[in-house]
Amino acid sequence: MAERLLPVYQDLHRNPELSFQEHRTAGLVAGALRELGCEVHEGVGRTGVVGVLRSGDGPTVLLRADMDALPVREQTGLPYASEARGIDPDGNDVPVMHACGHDMHVTALLGAAELLGELRDTWRGTVVLVFQPAEENGGGAQVMVDDGLFDLVPRPDIVLGQHVMPLPTGFVGAASGPAFAATDELDITMFGRGGHGSQPESTIDPVVMAAATVMRLQTVVSREVAGRETAVVTVGQLQAGTKNNVIPDEARLGLNIRSYDRYVRDRVVSAVRRVVNAEAEASGAERVPEISERDSFPVLINDPDCTARTLSGLREVFGQDAVRDIPPVMGSEDVGNLGTAVGAPVVYWLLGGADPALFEGVTVTGALPAHVPSNHSPYFAPVPDPTLRVGITALTTAAREWLDVADATEGEK
Ligand code: ZN
Ligand code: ZN
Repeated sequence: MAERLLPVYQDLHRNPELSFQEHRTAGLVAGALRELGCEVHEGVGRTGVVGVLRSGDGPTVLLRADMDALPVREQTGLPYASEARGIDPDGNDVPVMHACGHDMHVTALLGAAELLGELRDTWRGTVVLVFQPAEENGGGAQVMVDDGLFDLVPRPDIVLGQHVMPLPTGFVGAASGPAFAATDELDITMFGRGGHGSQPESTIDPVVMAAATVMRLQTVVSREVAGRETAVVTVGQLQAGTKNNVIPDEARLGLNIRSYDRYVRDRVVSAVRRVVNAEAEASGAERVPEISERDSFPVLINDPDCTARTLSGLREVFGQDAVRDIPPVMGSEDVGNLGTAVGAPVVYWLLGGADPALFEGVTVTGALPAHVPSNHSPYFAPVPDPTLRVGITALTTAAREWLDVADATEGEK
């Protein structure tokens, strides 16, 4: 099965598409699902595709794969490397690459669909196969929900999915509880009053205002978040002015905030707002700052009981050592929105995709060795075999863990 799907993986890899532009991918997925005899819904959340496999009465399990690629110029040198280009949301012509491995997620889910279809006599229930657009910009899952995903298909009892990561192949792992951080992005404009660089007394200098704000923001985590809690506040963009002897009118700050707990998140965001407004006032600003929120991802919580049960199912197949309990990831994921929309628990695990030889002499759960490319790197290149095979088996095994499976067929897992 995995061998047969390798050309599909390579084809997807060679033809990546940006968020909400996954037309070719969606067409390929819909065609494959139809061939498998699935009920198919296209255009769910713009470019999303959903397949449904039914086998009598029983639980409903949602399996999710994301489909989009990134504006990265591939440098892996692989024979199936991408040379694709696309138009980003700002209208720029950019290189496109599956630098986050979503092509692996799509192919593995197609393989799981086929396998679950073949094994249909051995389970009871419904499998909902969600091929989601636009994970990378945070919108896709919620857009599918808002577009009526759960009016089209049965509401799941559990949401399952996986993400390929630079961990050794054959390795599967999940964090219990908070698994991926929430992200909030804030765009802030602070207003001063511009003038001649020689006469600061007749201006309100937004550069000084912004500089003081950046420094004061460093105290939000250190002074307002408890030691046992975690958050990150990063000012990734700071822009003001055009010339050395001109005091500009305004300054812009771009913030990225990460957190694992909704209350910590709310406290940090409100502290940031308070600091920004207070620094503007301290500078005598005549206009309050503009603060706009964008690209927010909620924290992804892996339900602890469901995670334990899923991992124990995976251990039966892959062995104790290949399935790990791992710490949370500071990255973000929007798969949780699919569960939140219907009150279903989520279990989302990491799928090793890197050549194990790269990890010789390295502790698996330690920091990533410098020579192992991370997700979003132009060198990110999961080893197709056995990553795809493990990904298909993991999805199928986890799904069967939650479907009604007759005792007589237990051995087939
Ligand atoms: Zn990514
Ligand atoms: Zn990703």
